[in-house]
Amino acid sequence: MYDAVVVGARCAGASTAMLLARQGRRVLLVDRAPIPSDTMSTLFIRPPGVATLARWGVLDSVVESGCPALGTLSYDVGDVRLESRTPTMPGAGAAYAPRRHVLDHLLVEAAREAGADVVERASVHGLVRRGERVTGVQLADGEVHAHLVVGADGMRSRVASLVEAPLRVSDPLASCVYYSAWSGIRTDFGFHERPGSWIVRIPTHDDVTLVATYFLQQEFKRVRQDPLAAHLAAVERCAPDVYALVRDATRVDRIRGSGDQQNFFRQANGPGWALVGDAGHHLDSITASGITNAFHQADFLAAALDGVDLADAVATDEATGRFAGRRDQELAETYRGTLDLARLDLSAARVDILRAVSTSPELTSRYFAVVMGVLTHEEFFDDPDLLDLL
Ligand SMILES: Cc1cc2nc3c(=O)[nH]c(=O)nc-3n(C[C@H](O)[C@H](O)[C@H](O)COP(=O)(O)OP(=O)(O)OC[C@H]3O[C@@H](n4cnc5c(N)ncnc54)[C@H](O)[C@@H]3O)c2cc1C
Repeated sequence: MYDAVVVGARCAGASTAMLLARQGRRVLLVDRAPIPSDTMSTLFIRPPGVATLARWGVLDSVVESGCPALGTLSYDVGDVRLESRTPTMPGAGAAYAPRRHVLDHLLVEAAREAGADVVERASVHGLVRRGERVTGVQLADGEVHAHLVVGADGMRSRVASLVEAPLRVSDPLASCVYYSAWSGIRTDFGFHERPGSWIVRIPTHDDVTLVATYFLQQEFKRVRQDPLAAHLAAVERCAPDVYALVRDATRVDRIRGSGDQQNFFRQANGPGWALVGDAGHHLDSITASGITNAFHQADFLAAALDGVDLADAVATDEATGRFAGRRDQELAETYRGTLDLARLDLSAARVDILRAVSTSPELTSRYFAVVMGVLTHEEFFDDPDLLDLL
């Protein structure tokens, strides 16, 4: 009998298992994939996510793994260019984009160190129930019983579908994305935007840089016919300086991408279950928010459960209800901002704002702080310096 079984051992599940085990709970963390292994991602962790890793005591291991610090950031929109230091906040002196087989593994190891049992290559195919209540999971070799089952099993969550968690908010697909990985190109972290296109360059481990191109969802059918050609053509058109670097560089992995980046909030809790990470809330990857959101949700769930006796069904469900409410409230602004950006609709008004911002280093750094989730939109637009410039 476990206090909690967590299904899915990546940034949401491993973090949740670690935090619950640190509360002294008996936790089982289970994943159908081998550990460590990679998953589709452009790897960037926003400053609030980096600060969370620091608070959890995991950031030092990320740095020691050889992950480069991303200290500067640039954004070019046609003839407008913004450049600044990467926004910082207490605990996050730089941004990082660690390979997922490194990050997810460090979190699994932190969970194991905290006392969680970890089982890899084991798929959860069903739930155990007593009446309406979820009381465990079914694995190929039998049932595991727990007071709480946490689905951290990604956007197409099996746990969510087994409990029939309804969608509370959902929006149409907005962008589609393809990315490539290149060895030895010397560049920092940055974005390039043109109407209908968003390009990101992201240095990671081993002197490798990822280059990602976002297209409108309506273009997916065309782009998927020859993703590499469409990707490189977009880089050449929207980021010629990046194209000049990759043209003669070595590509170190096959091109990867997705046309199915769903946008939703699912109901996050019910009798004996909760959903964290992509399982409960998914959004377009254009703002690189998924990993940080997963960390926040792990934190929110652990905080709500702190001091609760998980054998007490009523208290447990009340706590997961508080977690669900906090998730919906605190992740709403990032969701709306992400959908706005993912429409790839570069309006003249936005270019005017960016042009004004680019004339002031202080405003540029505040603008990037908004983009990276360090400041809210209101805090930025309330700035009298900006109003003077516009
Ligand atoms: C192209 C792309 C680029 C992205 N880039 C970024 C980025 O730069 N920054 C960022 O923050 N986010 C990014 N994201 C989003 C980010 O990758 C996800 O938000 C994040 O991985 C979610 O973590 P998770 O732990 O919730 O789920 P996942 O990473 O999806 O992990 C779910 C785990 O559950 C396991 N699992 C599934 N079903 C079962 C089962 N039945 N039994 C047992 N185990 C199961 C899987 O094997 C998997 O290991 C990107 C996403 C995409 C598609």
